[in-house]
This record gives sequence, C-alpha cells and structure tokens, in this order.
Amino acid sequence: GTPVGAETRTYAAIDLDAVRTSVAALARRAGDAATMAVVKADGYGHGMLPCARAALDAGASWLGTAFLEEALALRAAGITAPVLCWLSVPGERFAAAIDAGIDLSASAPWALAEIAAAARAVGRPARVHLKADTGLGRAGATPADWPAMCDEAAALQAEGVIEAFGVWSHLAFADAPGHPTVQAQIGVFRDAVDIAEKAGLAPTVRHLANSAATLVSPEAHFDLVRPGVSVYGLSPGPEVGPPARFGLRPAMTLVSHAALVKRVPAGTGVSYAHRYTTTRESTLALVPLGYADGVPRAATNVGEVLFAGRRRRIAGTVCMDQFVLDIGDDAARAGDEVVLFGPGGRGEPTADDWAAALGTINYEIVTRIGARVPRVYR
Ligand code: PLP
Repeated sequence: GTPVGAETRTYAAIDLDAVRTSVAALARRAGDAATMAVVKADGYGHGMLPCARAALDAGASWLGTAFLEEALALRAAGITAPVLCWLSVPGERFAAAIDAGIDLSASAPWALAEIAAAARAVGRPARVHLKADTGLGRAGATPADWPAMCDEAAALQAEGVIEAFGVWSHLAFADAPGHPTVQAQIGVFRDAVDIAEKAGLAPTVRHLANSAATLVSPEAHFDLVRPGVSVYGLSPGPEVGPPARFGLRPAMTLVSHAALVKRVPAGTGVSYAHRYTTTRESTLALVPLGYADGVPRAATNVGEVLFAGRRRRIAGTVCMDQFVLDIGDDAARAGDEVVLFGPGGRGEPTADDWAAALGTINYEIVTRIGARVPRVYR
C-alpha cells in the first residue's frame, strides 16, 4: 500500500500473502504431521500477530514461542489455537500460562515441579511437552537424566496436575542435509519416546523438525513440525536451497527514502572516521536508517541496497540513524526510494545476500530490524 506518516521515511512491507503461500507449502511438505508456525521474536521481525493469523489461515494449527510474554500476547489478542512456549526460568508466571491454556515445555525437574505447583494453585492440569536433549546440547534433559524426568512426569500425571502431551527435541544440523547427526538425533529421539512410554506416558505429539527438517528430512516429521524462518518465506540455509525451490516467498521488503542528495568534490571523506573517500567528483545520497534500526554496523563499506536503478554499496561507516551511498554521476533526488532487501524480484538484494555479505544468517538480518521501523501489511 501507499506509505503514510512515519512510513514516508522507512518501513518494512510485510506481504501476508507470501506468509500464507509459504505456510501452505510447509504444511504440504509436512504431510500427515500438523504444522506449528514459530512466531517468537515478533514473528522473526515481521510482526507476531498478523503473521500468526496468516499462518493459522494457511494451514498451521499450532503456534510456537520462546518466551511466556509472547504466548500471553497471542492469547490477549484473542488467538485460541494451541500455543507452545519453551524457554522459562524459575519463578516464571506458570499460573498465568496455565490459566491462558498455553502448553509449556519442561527440560528439567525444577520446571516440572514449578509447573505442577502452579497447576495445583490454578486448579487445572497443565499441558506439558517434555524436552529431550538428543544431541543439540542446548535445552532438554540429557539421555542420562531423561528416565528420571519421565518417572517424575508420570507421577505428576497420575496426580492429575500435568498432562504430558508432548515429547520433543531440536536438531543441531538440520540445515546441512545428509549430516550424520540428523539420523543420530532421530534415533536418540525414538529411544526417548520409548522410555517415556515405558514410564507410563502416552504423548499425543512427538516433534523434532524445524524449517530445514520440514523441507528436506521427512523422517524427522513425526506428529508435528515446527518451522520458523520458512514461515516468513526464507530458506533455513544455503545448503538447503533457495526459497523458490520449496514454494517459499520472502515476506519482508525493507524500504527507505533518501533524505539528501548532494554533489561533492573528489577526495571527500564520508561518514565517521572517513572509512570511505570519493575518488572523483560524485553524488552522495543519505539514507535515514542505521544500526539502531538493525542495519549492522559491520555493513560499513560492505552492504548493498537498490537505489536509483541499481545496486549500490554503502559508502563509509553505518551510523546509528543513517548511512551514505555514493552514486557517482547517476541522477537521484531526495525522497527517492531505497530498497535494502526484499524477495529480489526487482533487482534488490535479498536477506540472504545481506547474510552472505556480513557472514551471518538471514534469521539475524530480519529479526534485528528495530522497533523504529513500522511494519506495513499488505
Ligand atoms: N523449534 C525451536 C525449539 C526453536 O528454537 C526454533 C527456532 O530457533 C524453531 C523450532 C524454528 O526453527 P527455524 O526457524 O530454523 O525453522
């Protein structure tokens, strides 16, 4: 749509049709497994609520968040779909979560104990997904600790304070198709499910797959897949392949407008510390977007944007609120559009291009777009 107000300067256009197309493609890949759209970190920077609604419209039946505040915000907005929230600390407001009907993850005995205490206080059982560390070395109970955690969960389930609804884990190398740890983790995961069942648990959902495994490792799908980055149309990594191969459409286009265009002589030092100097008389354009908005300072003399008809490299230091382009003898005016990244169809760089240029991943490029940048939906 036509930008208004603050969006005259800078905005992130979010194409909800692209989210719907991408989620539908993921749900098709998932086959018989249900799809949980991961919407943490403000929908990977795209805006949690509009993306959650679009994902549910397009075939996702679950939502996933890291933090409890995110899950509670989904409920506060009236979203009633199942929500799993997985990263808590002791003292977390588990009673509020149980009240709101949010599924909780437990990786350790302290979590089971606190969730059970909250459920007793609320007077209603908590739905819990027991998390196994099958080889990521992050959240989850290790194989050594897993049997005791299952026994504890079975006792609490018998008491009626928890329902062990899920058993789950997360992959370390899903974005490296064929990596031997994927099969190894699937094996450890199957063992973990067996141990849970022997402890008397009968989990309804077993889940392991992120975007990459949803796209390329069907043997990891189990009952539910948990794509995140691909919900927003992005590929989980260069080894998995370009998004179009899977019917994914990148949803975010980051747009700004030149604040100033001026002619300068040869030898003009540009921006802090003069990390760029013009080699001849040239035209500079000032772009009102900086590291406070998520343009990495590491993009100094490296990042590229689409401006005045072609790709331009950032000239000199990226500042907090602005950076400069050197467009040589090309014509431009203040107010002309600058596209930092998008799906790529108009010749603009993609989030993948930015990630490659900066030695990071597309996840970081989109999630770091700051709160000053309005999200505009279309
Ligand atoms: N599941 C868990 C536990 C996660 O932490 C994440 C995101 O990091 C996801 C699923 C989604 O991963 P991806 O964005 O790679 O699809």
